[in-house]
Amino acid sequence: MEKPMNIVILTGAGVSAESGIDTFRAGTNGQPSLWEQHRIEDVATPEAYARDPDLVLRFYDMRRAAIQTKAPNPAHLALARLDAAWPGHVTIVTQNVDDLHERAGAHGVIHMHGEHLSAWCATCDTRTRWTGPLAGRPPCPACAAPTLRPDIVWFGEIPYRMDDIQAALAGADLFVSIGTSGAVYPAAGFVRLARELGAATLELNLDRSQGSAWFDETRLGPASEVVAAWVDGLLG
Ligand SMILES: [Zn+2]
Repeated sequence: MEKPMNIVILTGAGVSAESGIDTFRAGTNGQPSLWEQHRIEDVATPEAYARDPDLVLRFYDMRRAAIQTKAPNPAHLALARLDAAWPGHVTIVTQNVDDLHERAGAHGVIHMHGEHLSAWCATCDTRTRWTGPLAGRPPCPACAAPTLRPDIVWFGEIPYRMDDIQAALAGADLFVSIGTSGAVYPAAGFVRLARELGAATLELNLDRSQGSAWFDETRLGPASEVVAAWVDGLLG
């Protein structure tokens, strides 16, 4: 029997959008980038946190509460089905900071931009699952210091687990990008790396992206439809 394909899947905002999760919008034509009416540089950078930690903590408290009211959509469910049934390796790398892949049943998801439901202690470097607010400066469960911050990779910070992602790409037979703009590095470079390492490449997206030209094939449509159809085709 032929060796089953190893598949690396990168997911972005387009996968969570259909669950009603608002993500940041890139500014165009001189307009600022906005996230829930906040400018990115006011809430999602280390400088913003240093300048006005209360604003940043309240913003993320709101986001953390909001995602817990949302549910996985058919795209998350299809990827979890693939993760469970595929005979080769499936690695899901996500730019999303919600937990909808996990709630759909996927395992081992790599959150390269961090997670809303995790708090990171700036004093002792411990990460703790966290579902409540941080704005009241609760003590770190490990060291009791009131120095927990959102476990989120802010603009200007280095994404998590890049070594694991590169190792997965090195072993991939197929790289699939779903619902990402192809505009934010380093994720935008994964397709080129995957190609260089010999993987076939497929893009599933609502619209053609900046990175579309790099893919062997692009299938357009809402993630809930194109992802489910792709997974159904693979699993036969
Ligand atoms: Zn601590």
